[in-house]
Amino acid sequence: MAKILVTGGLGYIGSHTVVALQEAGYEVVVVDNLSNTLAEVEDSIEKISGTRPIVHHFDVAEQGKLQNLIQDEGVEGIIHFAAFLQVNESVENPLKYYENNIGTLVSVGKAARDSGNLPIVFSSSCTVYGNPETLPVDENAPIVNSESPYGQTKIVGEQILKHAADAGDFPVISLRYFNPIGAHPSGEIGELQFGEPHHLVPYITETASGKRSELKIFGSDYPTSDGTCVRDYIHVMDLAEAHVAAMKKALSLKRGNFEAVNIGTGKGTSVLEMVKSFENATGLEVPYVLADRRAGDAIAVYASAGKAKDWLKWEASRSLDETFRDAWNWEKNLAKKNIPERENV
Ligand code: UDP
Repeated sequence: MAKILVTGGLGYIGSHTVVALQEAGYEVVVVDNLSNTLAEVEDSIEKISGTRPIVHHFDVAEQGKLQNLIQDEGVEGIIHFAAFLQVNESVENPLKYYENNIGTLVSVGKAARDSGNLPIVFSSSCTVYGNPETLPVDENAPIVNSESPYGQTKIVGEQILKHAADAGDFPVISLRYFNPIGAHPSGEIGELQFGEPHHLVPYITETASGKRSELKIFGSDYPTSDGTCVRDYIHVMDLAEAHVAAMKKALSLKRGNFEAVNIGTGKGTSVLEMVKSFENATGLEVPYVLADRRAGDAIAVYASAGKAKDWLKWEASRSLDETFRDAWNWEKNLAKKNIPERENV
């Protein structure tokens, strides 16, 4: 089996993908600068899979170092996660986001090109569709300039990779994720929270645990069935397995290929439905208030998941109930960990 480099492999989606790759028989090399995670995640990965990945702590923007590692290890494919991901922070500090997210991508691209045209699986987002006019949204929908620098780094990132693929540098599969939630069922890995959560599900679990007094539901007058926004929430292990399917496919592609694929469940769920489903799945109560809309939120976004099914032979299989049980299990374990208070990035 091929040896795969995972950049940002100790982060939330990265760590689950490392486990899924190991379970599928791949050897894994991780590069992570620990900017939004902890080194202990390596132990947790080993506890789950029985195999400790090879891990290097440096910034993938250091292209020479990255290229040496790829060549020394005999890496055959790259999954690139390493990026900053807070929408609000990116609005406050755009240059930090452009420098990091574009800089790391160019570095990974050059290292891939110069190490034998290695295939790249890129971590993109449904944010490239903005507020889509047609639902479910498919891969041919127009790409809309983002209101946030974070979102724009995904659009520009795809363009950079498309141009490089067109020039024959490598093949690329860009995965446009919808909303990843939940955690590994073992409770060993999940999304680490270094401060107040920005995303819905960590906010729900922290409110259920009593760490936060109430959830604010951002907007209740949207043109949706109950007035709250609709998203396509996908279990992070389903998403991790989509990366394994994408890497398998990418290893068979010739350079010059670029494909973008939606990774979602195909089902839309409103914020209020999420709260109710969490309460049903766990028997817990989540106090909430209806609050003002949050700037920049799309009204409703959910995936057309047909291309992933037909082309990658992958589809999401975990239920929302199961996902919430895993999210809650993780929240309880998180409370026992000693996580330093710092800003999420
Ligand atoms: N949301 C909310 N309260 C929160 C966090 C999020 O009502 O404390 C809503 C948000 O407005 C959006 C949905 O939950 O409609 C999903 O938001 P999230 O930040 O998790 O993901 P996004 O779709 O924005 O990437």
